[in-house]
Amino acid sequence: MSSSCIYGSHRVVSPPGSLPQGAWKLDPSLPIRENEILITVDTLNIDSASFHQMMQSGGDKEAVSRIVLETVEQRGKQHNPVTGSGGMLLGTISEIGSQWPNPQNLQVGDRIATLVSLSLTPLFIKKIVSVREDRDQIKIEGHAILFATSNLARIPEDLPESLSLAVLDVAGAPAQMLRLCKPATTIIIVGAGGKSGLLCCAAARSVLGKSGRLIGIEPGSRGRQRLTELGYCDVVLDLDATNALLVQKTIQGLTEGKMADLVVNVANVENTEMSCVMSTHQQGTVYFFSMATSFTRVALGAEGISSDATLLIGNGYSPNNADIALDVLRSDPRLKALFTELYA
Ligand code: NAP
Repeated sequence: MSSSCIYGSHRVVSPPGSLPQGAWKLDPSLPIRENEILITVDTLNIDSASFHQMMQSGGDKEAVSRIVLETVEQRGKQHNPVTGSGGMLLGTISEIGSQWPNPQNLQVGDRIATLVSLSLTPLFIKKIVSVREDRDQIKIEGHAILFATSNLARIPEDLPESLSLAVLDVAGAPAQMLRLCKPATTIIIVGAGGKSGLLCCAAARSVLGKSGRLIGIEPGSRGRQRLTELGYCDVVLDLDATNALLVQKTIQGLTEGKMADLVVNVANVENTEMSCVMSTHQQGTVYFFSMATSFTRVALGAEGISSDATLLIGNGYSPNNADIALDVLRSDPRLKALFTELYA
């Protein structure tokens, strides 16, 4: 075994000189290098935008299974070529290279979830065991390799594993919410009834307290029902965020023209960017966590309507995001019960 690049560039097959996320193909072969760790993988948590796209194009979960197998065989990673997104995984540490930095003192046998995307993680699938379309999760037999800079979390003992996996998949969203939200402001969450949406609503309400206004946009009736039951939002709107003019008009009416201070996009479909930009005032902020976001659509669209709002890309990493997201879940027994029902 030889020591290698901390960012994993030594695993890139093509094109030469790329980093693993930008590469077309990675090499997931064994043995691991001294600064890597080996994970025996049992569950892939596919990014929602990616799972949705594969279901749309293939039609059923058998097709999703086939597409994932093909992608991983061709690319050495689960990097959806259409959405460009990945997901994360759950597994057991089976080997630790002697030069792998180990700040969390992880041991062989520990159960972990990756906090870096499957779109940059070398992955080999021996067999697909089953597909859970209600959770965007796939049971597999296989292995993955993590680099010295790959972030990961030990699975907590107080929560069911598949529940932790679901929360950790979107850990960046509630963690960023706590940074971005300010008391007494108007906040909109687009896709509020989904997994990251509900966690974002809980985080936003914890900052707002009784002040400000939290508006959830959610076209799905089940999502709206969850939002109403949890009661985080002051208003829950049945709106399709691909209809930017309708969303803008509705928010204009609700806010008497003031518009929102912060809009967070956690929808899993394309073309929802401009309803977010157009719902925000000139000094406001839009946080695009959605992997269906197009940089071109946002940048050129905002320019086209002379919006000066600050546009933030949804970097999934922030320090301690795993602990923060799990604590947001633990802080409300009703949210924890709902997530247990949905994901455990
Ligand atoms: P999710 O649970 O599927 O939630 C997505 C929500 O968006 C659902 O409630 C969905 O409603 C709603 N939605 C669908 N179409 C909409 C529309 N036209 N207008 C408004 N809302 C709409 O997904 P998730 O797991 O929370 O993930 C949310 C997004 O975050 C995805 O795009 C995912 O790719 C991304 N993500 C980003 C990172 C990162 O690091 N930045 C990490 C993980 C995930 P229905 O259920 O009724 O369709």
